[in-house]
Amino acid sequence: MQSEGAAVRPATAEAPSGGRLVAALDIGGTKIAGALVDGEGRLLARSLRPTPAAQDGATVMAAVAEVLGELTADPAWVRVTAVGIGSAGPVDASHGTVSPVNVPGWRGFPLVERVREVTGPLPVTLTGDGVAIAAAEHWQGAARGYDNALCMVVSTGVGGGFVLNGALHPGPTGNAGHIGHISVDLDGPLCPCGARGCVERLASGPNIARRALENGWRPQAGQEPTAEAVAAAARAGDPVAAASFARAAQALAAGIAAAATLVEIEVAVIGGGVAGAGEVLFAPLRDHLRAYATLSFASGVRVLPAQLGTDAGLVGAAAAAFGGVLRARG
Ligand SMILES: [Zn+2]
Repeated sequence: MQSEGAAVRPATAEAPSGGRLVAALDIGGTKIAGALVDGEGRLLARSLRPTPAAQDGATVMAAVAEVLGELTADPAWVRVTAVGIGSAGPVDASHGTVSPVNVPGWRGFPLVERVREVTGPLPVTLTGDGVAIAAAEHWQGAARGYDNALCMVVSTGVGGGFVLNGALHPGPTGNAGHIGHISVDLDGPLCPCGARGCVERLASGPNIARRALENGWRPQAGQEPTAEAVAAAARAGDPVAAASFARAAQALAAGIAAAATLVEIEVAVIGGGVAGAGEVLFAPLRDHLRAYATLSFASGVRVLPAQLGTDAGLVGAAAAAFGGVLRARG
């Protein structure tokens, strides 16, 4: 199955794969997705399992092996030359291990070694899921054509990854760009990570909903109190709902301004469910960004919505496996 949006434009003029494919895995707290991906980012075969996140580590790995088993059984598997894995983090790419917060059965789990037991001697590239999203948006999405970008996912959590000097910048362990856990409020609320005032603690979907509820917003009858419901209320003119999104936007703006000032990103791409709120988020975000990104070299940073949807993790894992982000010529 080819995914809508994953290959709406041709990739580089010189498709680097020469007919070769990579096997991509996107491992999260709720699902384990796999695909065979070609050099233009098209998904040629897919497999999906729910993540048995509450089970022991061997059971989770068995689900990964099932996904891989479906891919290795595909006739196109003979063209696969590498494996790319994007995993919920933290990951440790230098050791090939993962410790996803939402999968307690995996702590220092030797994922790369276990995947190799299924796939044989193919090279395996492991990155954090935020880094994979950055690779995907740079290859096929909104960051295409930018040499310096921060790509973020704002959803149940907040994550991200960097493209710097035209290349993916995963950092030594594959976690660089994890903007959700930089502090933008020195004495702010305690974050589950142990720090205070993290971007995620202020800007994630659950925190947008929690803050709105605390300030008197109520969902309509039969409606769940989600960030999506808060966004709908904000669009309808509810000031408490709008204020909760504005506060999230302020936290994101401070984080983006810090990134622009530190490494001169030209663009920040924002995806994930919270970004689906559209202008309810992006309008106050642009306003706050003007207040925080003040220095001449940082003030031009642009903010764009992500273009890739739920396949971004797979496309990004594939991009990383193809040997770094492929330079776009768009
Ligand atoms: Zn934190």
